Amino acid sequence: MDSTVSRTPATSASDTSFLPHGQVITPDDAGYDDARAVWNGMIDRRPAVIARCTDADDVAAALAHARAHRLPVSVRGGGHNVSGTAVRDGSLVVDLSPMRTVDVDPDRRRVRADGGALLGEVDRATQEHGLAVPFGVYSETGLAGLTLGGGLGWLRRAYGASCDNLVAADLVTASGERVRASETENPGLLWGLRGGGGGLGVVTSFEFRAYPVGPDVTLALVFHPWTDAAAAMRNYHEWSQNAPDDVSSFAIVWHAPAIDDIPAQYHHQPVVTYAAVHSGDPAQAQADLAPLRDFGSPIADLTDVMPYVDAQKLFDEDYPAHVMRYYWTSLYLTGMDDEVIDALRELNEACPSPHSTLDVWQLGGAFSRVGADETALGDRSAPYLLGVEANWEDDADDEANIAWARKVRDTMERFSTGAEYLNFPGFYEAGERTLRRMFGSNYERLAALRRAYDPDGLFSSEGHIPA
Ligand SMILES: Cc1cc2nc3c(=O)[nH]c(=O)nc-3n(C[C@H](O)[C@H](O)[C@H](O)COP(=O)(O)OP(=O)(O)OC[C@H]3O[C@@H](n4cnc5c(N)ncnc54)[C@H](O)[C@@H]3O)c2cc1C
Repeated sequence: MDSTVSRTPATSASDTSFLPHGQVITPDDAGYDDARAVWNGMIDRRPAVIARCTDADDVAAALAHARAHRLPVSVRGGGHNVSGTAVRDGSLVVDLSPMRTVDVDPDRRRVRADGGALLGEVDRATQEHGLAVPFGVYSETGLAGLTLGGGLGWLRRAYGASCDNLVAADLVTASGERVRASETENPGLLWGLRGGGGGLGVVTSFEFRAYPVGPDVTLALVFHPWTDAAAAMRNYHEWSQNAPDDVSSFAIVWHAPAIDDIPAQYHHQPVVTYAAVHSGDPAQAQADLAPLRDFGSPIADLTDVMPYVDAQKLFDEDYPAHVMRYYWTSLYLTGMDDEVIDALRELNEACPSPHSTLDVWQLGGAFSRVGADETALGDRSAPYLLGVEANWEDDADDEANIAWARKVRDTMERFSTGAEYLNFPGFYEAGERTLRRMFGSNYERLAALRRAYDPDGLFSSEGHIPA
């Protein structure tokens, strides 16, 4: 391991000047409540201290302070993980939100981004050069948590998951060492960062492979009435099995949003929506997406050619931060036969909130050509991922909505591989069982990495394998 051990002076527990450049926020500070808030309005945690880091020196100093005062460490990238692991009670939060610099090298098609950067910031910088890194479908997510948990988006079938395109990373480990992970330096660590969920150090900088994309892509967005739900799902199943890798899509089983483009009688009524992005030639896109548009009698067809950066923001308004309450879980599905379709329809009809969704993510393509042991993310053989999103407004409805999401997971279990997707982890309430389901046969190898890089469990968290 080539590294430089940081020599940070000892600090007292109440010291608030332990960062050389950044800002320390404690419960006594006026900004504490804003600093501890994360995207999910359900999360109300009280860290002991929040270290707003501006560079790797700050991160090393924050970790030294945590070690010296036996504080557990939480790491905050974009603060968007539904489980709220970025701000655990009583922890020192290494908050990377000030670290957002993005550098693009268009000749090498490489992108370096700081650990606190958000997806939209990277998308904007790469698109200036006609490039894109495969990221998720919501532009305000942190690239750190997304990549460490896999990273599935509109380019997953063309170019794989975000973690597949991570070529190097700079970390500060639990002991304060500066470590680089790449194919040639600490390749085992790079393997663990590719979908292993974190807990191996604070990643201060990520380097990605980028691809020529855009500036325009074709977005298909077609809403079908509930009377056609089963047939629409069957049509999607048939189409999705043979669609080219240039397309990544969802079938969304949910309730129609109350927007002007959808006739008022369908607002908040159950619907099936096809959502797909085709990143290839626009004329070919029209042909490839035609089976989604020609089927049945859509309530609305909002298909359009648009800048890639706009497609990346398609869902941004649907997921407001802090005000809504969220519980998201997932299962990899083995198929989509009539039994699956019927079960999804019944579960949608029983859903207590008009904002919740059952998202069938089309997998396959480049994503599925990566072997189970090639990255920590694990087995990619399932043809679909079911994302279960319970989204609601009122805390009085917490129990009903979480119970619904868990019922979906229990009901759909028999149609699944038994594995779950790390980036939609519920609240990790099943503990180690959840982690074993996420990492499958990679669990022991990841556990060994956790022991090697965090022997004292500084980064212990419900989201990490025990050290
Ligand atoms: C509205 C919305 C849409 C989403 N869409 C998608 C999608 O399309 N595809 C997809 O795959 N996922 C998606 N997700 C899930 C998302 O990828 C995860 O929630 C992810 O954890 C968010 O990353 P973050 O940095 O914002 O998380 P945070 O909450 O900040 O961090 C989560 C965990 O990641 C680790 N971590 C974060 N930063 C670092 C770092 N720099 N170094 C080391 N460890 C770190 C820590 O363990 C931390 O507890 C979506 C989430 C939301 C809220």
